[in-house]
Amino acid sequence: MNSSPRRQFLQGAEGAEALSSTRMRAAIRPRPELGQLSAYRLGVDAAVKLNRNESPLDWPPEFKAEVLRRVAARPWNRYPAVDGAEIREAFARAVGVAASMVAVANGSNEAILALVEAFATGRPVVLTAPGYSLSRPLAVIGGAEAHAVVLRPDFGLDVPAMLRAIDACRAAIVFLASPNNPTGNAFARADVEAILDAAPGVVVVDEAYVQFGRGSLLPDLARYPQLVVLRTFSKAFALAGARIGWIVGGEAVIDAVSRTLPPYNLNVFGQESALLALDRPDQVSERVRLIVEERERLRSAMTRVDGVTAYPSETNFILFRTALAAEVLFARLLDRGVLVRDVSTQPLLERCLRVTVGTPQENDRFVAALRGSLEDES
Ligand code: PMP
Repeated sequence: MNSSPRRQFLQGAEGAEALSSTRMRAAIRPRPELGQLSAYRLGVDAAVKLNRNESPLDWPPEFKAEVLRRVAARPWNRYPAVDGAEIREAFARAVGVAASMVAVANGSNEAILALVEAFATGRPVVLTAPGYSLSRPLAVIGGAEAHAVVLRPDFGLDVPAMLRAIDACRAAIVFLASPNNPTGNAFARADVEAILDAAPGVVVVDEAYVQFGRGSLLPDLARYPQLVVLRTFSKAFALAGARIGWIVGGEAVIDAVSRTLPPYNLNVFGQESALLALDRPDQVSERVRLIVEERERLRSAMTRVDGVTAYPSETNFILFRTALAAEVLFARLLDRGVLVRDVSTQPLLERCLRVTVGTPQENDRFVAALRGSLEDES
């Protein structure tokens, strides 16, 4: 009884060992392409954090109290609205499109992944380099094959090179961030249109920073059914903690991406804070105005520091270059309590770092730290 060869084999210490090694072999086999990725961790902390392009201006206590009051009034035992219908409608009204052209995600990173899964798993994607640092990992996670095309030295799109790459691989998605991160510039409209005219698949324009510059592609959605615009509430709307991202596109795009987005992806806190923020457009644009003003003050202060090139920006951050190796300057700034982002491993960005526009006090502290670090001969 009960003496099958397998059972006999599993009895005794030798059997147990064999079983546990079989289990280990069987259980933990990540996809091989994940080998090229690492978990997203920033690792260090500092008194002045200017490394994540967050808004320096938190929402006032009355706003938070009202969000919390509304969240408390919702049933927590029930799932939230399955596709965020109410906030999709509010967002659609705010940007002047039909609600059927909007999908909502738990941050725009989730939106990017859902787009990859809807259009590009097992297919090629073309991206820019320099470009948004998570666009390639998200393409890889989504099972796409990512091809990067280097920008022109002035950080504009190299249209002929883009068109060659798009045509050679028959790109299922072309991914652009405009304004671009970390270079800070918006791409020329004619260049984006040349790509829209030639692309055989979807063209995603990530407008995470568009409120800090000028000119969105939202009005072009009617002309280009293959255009998808991404927006986030993490920057101009100062709600990075709430994780809200938007996908805006034609009905065929929204239909496809609605199949890959997880249901109930936006929780009640995200939904209530998005609704209230959308109700306060004047407060949002006033804060954007302050950040843009502060960005220009910061950039001229940086330019006055000997040996610093601070690039123009249409975002809430500034790319800058010095004569020092980026990791040396990064460490010296950190020693002085200021955390920025080292972006020097991307093409064209040798000796470059990126600083987020903070409060006037944070920016002054950063400029003093920058001056001190560059004078430091040690
Ligand atoms: N796109 C770009 C270009 C970004 O810079 C960022 C965040 N830094 C994101 C998307 C991600 O934003 P979210 O917080 O909405 O996931």
